[in-house]
Amino acid sequence: MNKLTHMLTSLVLLGWSIAAAPVAGQLRVVATTPDLGALAREIGGAAVEVTVLAKPTEDPHFVDARPSLIVTLNRADLLIEGGAELELGWLPALLQGVRNTKIAAGAPGRILAATGVTMLEVPTTFDRSRGDVHALGNPHFMLDPLNVRLIVTQIAEHLAQIDAASAEQYRANLQRFDTRLDAKLAEWQAQLAPFRGAKIVTYHRDFVYLAARFGLDVVATLEERPGIAPSPAHLADVINTMRTQGARVILMQPYQNRRTAETVARQTEATVLDMPQQPGVAPNTDTYFDLMDHLVRTLATALGRGR
Ligand SMILES: [Zn+2]
Repeated sequence: MNKLTHMLTSLVLLGWSIAAAPVAGQLRVVATTPDLGALAREIGGAAVEVTVLAKPTEDPHFVDARPSLIVTLNRADLLIEGGAELELGWLPALLQGVRNTKIAAGAPGRILAATGVTMLEVPTTFDRSRGDVHALGNPHFMLDPLNVRLIVTQIAEHLAQIDAASAEQYRANLQRFDTRLDAKLAEWQAQLAPFRGAKIVTYHRDFVYLAARFGLDVVATLEERPGIAPSPAHLADVINTMRTQGARVILMQPYQNRRTAETVARQTEATVLDMPQQPGVAPNTDTYFDLMDHLVRTLATALGRGR
């Protein structure tokens, strides 16, 4: 190989390696919670690199605002947050340390997932001083697949705006996701149809959108108010309600107080059901579809046993 050929080969190899290394051209997408991150991966595909701020096992209301998260936010091309004050306890504090106009409020690089979602449980009056963490309505809207449809549409629009060169790809990914969502929603509805009107109890008010979409009835929550630890008097009320209404399952997240849930379950012959809402907590639940498959199956199995 002569010198010139060698040089040309090197240049070709160099050029190839740059083109083939997607990292160089990838958009840096940051999501506050793993569920939003999973949606960003579906729509962004190979064109994006997704980083998630909260751990899947962390309460999204109370994430540890590690300083390293500021570094991540400073490098972001796009920030996706739930909005509706889900991250009020930690994200605004982090953003105060961030110098990145790309993700400033109102910029194309900032998505509030709640935009367009019909919020449930919007309080007519609220008192933040009492510690209520759902002052703008219930921010746990991801388990209603129709809300997810609005969110992925928004993600595709913002990605196309920031990165016009890959716009077609984002739209194609959105189309594919939507088609699959239609099919899966029909499946999930069929699986839960036999349990329409079933009484369920949850630890926090984080299953109301799932209940509304699939016709389940949340008759009590172990927490007295969202974000406030239950008092013994409240738990006594919950036990009464569960006995009179025949509720036999208590749905909970990994970061909630299992001992409290089990104490109530023992007195009501109910089952404590692990229903982690974040992808990746339960095995093989990394995508939204796999997560919902798992949750619907878990719930249908438990409700079926209770008959
Ligand atoms: Zn909440």
